[in-house]
Amino acid sequence: VAKLYFRHGVMSAAKTSNLLQVEFTYRQAGMKTILAKPAVDSKGGTAIVSRIGLTKEANLLITPEMNVKEELQKLLAENREAGTPIACLLIDEAQFLTPKQVDELLWLAVFEDLPVLAYGLRSDFLTQAFPGSARLLTIAHSIEEVKTVCPHDGSKAMFNARKTKDGQYISDGSQVAIDGDGVEYESICPKCFMEKVVSLA
Ligand SMILES: [Zn+2]
Repeated sequence: VAKLYFRHGVMSAAKTSNLLQVEFTYRQAGMKTILAKPAVDSKGGTAIVSRIGLTKEANLLITPEMNVKEELQKLLAENREAGTPIACLLIDEAQFLTPKQVDELLWLAVFEDLPVLAYGLRSDFLTQAFPGSARLLTIAHSIEEVKTVCPHDGSKAMFNARKTKDGQYISDGSQVAIDGDGVEYESICPKCFMEKVVSLA
């Protein structure tokens, strides 16, 4: 039986490069994948774009209302008939999925025998879990961390601090604000977060 994987990491941890590398490896082996991302992620339009410049058009944009199970069953059937079976489903920015959609991913892994690799953030700019991430952390077969270091002291980066364009840390606002849409993010360690942004205790 295939598995649902959650590969989480902070914003600059090279999750998208990792995802696109996996897609490339499958393609080199003559196998087809489906690349998906939530529609709310407006960065790169309909493409999946990594910070180091790799880019690939998404095959599927997932809206909050979408039944991912039905949508994928349709795509899997179409590709089976065309003689190009799908080897793997790769999802970027999976924190923006709804908990119900995450449950549907587990169903696809188990009953369609489709490996699902979901990449995303664990927590938001105030260290709270995204609903999709909380569900992934709870039910994924496998949880892996894509790591990077804090730019201030080289400690393990764990949180995504939100900043204004002119570099001021922000400690209020809505959970979703896409990178580049008037805000920037800095992946930092808990100590720097609590000293520079807001103390958690
Ligand atoms: Zn630090």
